[in-house]
Amino acid sequence: MAARPAPYLDDLNPAQREAVEALDGPVLMLAGAGTGKTKALTTRIAHLLHTGTCRTNEILAVTFTNKAAREMKERVARNLGQSVEGMPWLGTFHAICVKLLRRHAELVGLKSNFTILDTDDQIRLLKQLIIAENIDDKRWPARMLAGIIDNWKNRAWTPDKVPAAEAGAFNNRGTELYEAYQRRLRELNAVDFGDLLLHVVHIFQTRPDVLEQYQNWFRYILVDEYQDTNVAQYLWLRLLAAKHKNICCVGDDDQSIYGWRGAEVGNILRFEKDFPGAKVIRLEQNYRSTPHILAAAAGVIRGNQDRLGKELWTEATEGEKVRLIGHWDGEEEARWVGDEIEAMAQGTRGMAPMGLDSMAILVRASHQMRAFEDRFLTIGLPYRVIGGPRFYERMEIRDAMAYFRLAVSPEDDLAFERIVNTPRRGLGDKAVQTIRKKDSESAVSMVERARRCCEEKLLSGRGLKELTRLVNAIDLWHYLVRNAGEKIEVSKQQAAILELETEVEQLSTEVDLFTAPDYAEELTEKERESEILKLQVQIEQCQSRIELLQRFVSILNGDHILLAEMILDESGYTGFWQNDKTPEAPGRLENLKELVKALEQFENLQGFLEHVSLIMDNQTEEAGEKVTIMTLHAAKGLEYPAVFLPGWEDGLFPSQRSMDESGLKGLEEERRLAYVGITRAEELCTISFAANRRVYGQWQSQLPSRFIDELPEEHVEVLTPPGLYGGGYGAAGGMSSRLEERAARADAYNSPGWRRMQSHGAARQTQSPSEARNLVIDATAISTFTKGDRVFHQKFGYGTVMGIEGDKLDIEFDKAGAKKVVARFIKPADR
Ligand code: ATP
Ligand code: MG
Repeated sequence: MAARPAPYLDDLNPAQREAVEALDGPVLMLAGAGTGKTKALTTRIAHLLHTGTCRTNEILAVTFTNKAAREMKERVARNLGQSVEGMPWLGTFHAICVKLLRRHAELVGLKSNFTILDTDDQIRLLKQLIIAENIDDKRWPARMLAGIIDNWKNRAWTPDKVPAAEAGAFNNRGTELYEAYQRRLRELNAVDFGDLLLHVVHIFQTRPDVLEQYQNWFRYILVDEYQDTNVAQYLWLRLLAAKHKNICCVGDDDQSIYGWRGAEVGNILRFEKDFPGAKVIRLEQNYRSTPHILAAAAGVIRGNQDRLGKELWTEATEGEKVRLIGHWDGEEEARWVGDEIEAMAQGTRGMAPMGLDSMAILVRASHQMRAFEDRFLTIGLPYRVIGGPRFYERMEIRDAMAYFRLAVSPEDDLAFERIVNTPRRGLGDKAVQTIRKKDSESAVSMVERARRCCEEKLLSGRGLKELTRLVNAIDLWHYLVRNAGEKIEVSKQQAAILELETEVEQLSTEVDLFTAPDYAEELTEKERESEILKLQVQIEQCQSRIELLQRFVSILNGDHILLAEMILDESGYTGFWQNDKTPEAPGRLENLKELVKALEQFENLQGFLEHVSLIMDNQTEEAGEKVTIMTLHAAKGLEYPAVFLPGWEDGLFPSQRSMDESGLKGLEEERRLAYVGITRAEELCTISFAANRRVYGQWQSQLPSRFIDELPEEHVEVLTPPGLYGGGYGAAGGMSSRLEERAARADAYNSPGWRRMQSHGAARQTQSPSEARNLVIDATAISTFTKGDRVFHQKFGYGTVMGIEGDKLDIEFDKAGAKKVVARFIKPADR
């Protein structure tokens, strides 16, 4: 066709070239990581344009992320040596479908200016429907229904197409609610994410004329990361390609990591059936990674049974082995990685200095990011987070920080305005206006104005009550911050505790008197009981007061973590997220816990706030090289000279969920994720794990990931002191012996010897996790009893726990009847 030279073809190997030059007919490129699939795909686009085979708007090119789409456009331009005009149909499935749906909205009962709901809106809407149907949304939460509906949409099932086998979903109401939800969306002229594809597929299926228009239009179709398409996407592609059959899909079954979102790796395997005569091209030369890295990745993925199986080779020189290192805990892991990155940036161990842009940290779960961000902020190492805001920019973290700021300085009006109605406490814009206007001519803080509003009752009802409570709470927090370390305040609190304890003693004596048969004989049995009960209530009140004062003492003695936890609890902020049923809530709670954990490295709240504000200030998107932090899922298709893979521990990676599942499906997907992770590295791959990690607020000792055992020994360099491994790791043996071995190793990490070894030198700034303190907090704040427990009380004797309310227990005593008692007065009956 075109006789013009095509220099970009020279950069390709023969197999790639074949894939690029076979412009007509179906092509499937099925190949492992780093073999140049994306490169071939991009070159193919350049070739289509260069040869004049089609125009830019006749190419439909689907990528997995917007970032990938941008990069692809740039690469095409580079290949052609000129910028490409347009490429309007190069983007993600969703981006392309939005455009298509806007053109044909009326065919599915929408207007072209429809809105796209985010997850929050979606859940809210579903909740309304659930409640309107008188369904108990505690037992049947909207989040669950959202999951079910998404799943159906991923399979391209409109309400009428949901198969009978699914009829039991959501307590038999699933289909019906799905239908109601779709109706409601239409009324609102709105769609959710899943609808974008679903509606377009529906249009294509029901309107052959429309379909044909696009079949003619999109003469060439290209799809990257094909292994992660779901059924709806697959149908969409098949419909569009049915006429010209010029479709080129590239993928790698070993990198299918979105099964949990409905992706079906089977789509790849079906390709040859759907498009008979398809040219299937396999690439085996890897251009990205060193042999050690490839061998390590191959060793891991070999553990999967369900795979096509392919081997990769490379011409690259051997390079460094994959490095493996164990740490005492997550903070130390972050510290080590930070130091290592700095060293690498300067050029250590005979290696040339490496730019920060060349390094990435890929985590399994986004809450792992916090420790790294914190460490990097501390040492001033520039970083970027891909696929989400940086830790300290997240909404819940900013809210929590605003509370801390107020505790430190009640004059911080910005902080006050941020949290005055967060969580909602009936203090909306109007209330804030009232507060703002109060004595506006005098230069006093918002908190002070709020106090005056309360005193003069300028608000009414709930608002007044809540504002009073908030102002009092801020006063208390500030008192605790201001007087930390003040011996005299500690003694004051201790004196108050002593007084209360004396009172408890007196009250108890009185109770004793009433239980003696000859005391106050003039009273009836009933009257006596009621006297005792009254006394008991008073005792309990004193006890909870004592408990609170004891906490104050701890805080005044410097326990700022306890203070932070108290602030988040008392303000209702933690509770607010605990009651929130949106899918984001658990993550936000996890982040709040991470925040409190971050405090451990500082002496007090002030120090911590200073740390954060300083770094936030000069971190406003400055140019320059930065280390990248992102999840493994987001790293698909990308590559970095140096990659750090932290948190390789059972329960984190592979995730607990995948380990609990029956069958291997979940575990195999995790293993593919490990494969994706390792194969992102070009020159240096460092895997690490910690012996201890805080999971849901509790310290746990962790077992190194089972995937670590699968790394071939000869391609791994262990960086921890060799003695710990008992002379080498991953010795041959069955799975169970390996598990034992891993357990033994984990024990070794917990031994005092290991701790000593880990705390050598100045690298360690903080104490090991303060388990002691955690135990104290747990013991005072959380009852350890459950319903049905047999218990013993000094006065009331034996009984059974009937209910639990915070630290209070409802107990049915065998002799004394039903009573509410503070948990700390209770002992288990068998001890
Ligand atoms: P993944 O499965 O991770 O998405 P991929 O198969 O898409 O990987 P690419 O990202 O296209 O691989 O290529 C990996 C690296 O190898 C890139 O840096 C690319 O420029 C380079 N590369 C690909 N093909 C060749 C080639 N023929 N000669 C030299 N370098 C190549
Ligand atoms: Mg790729």
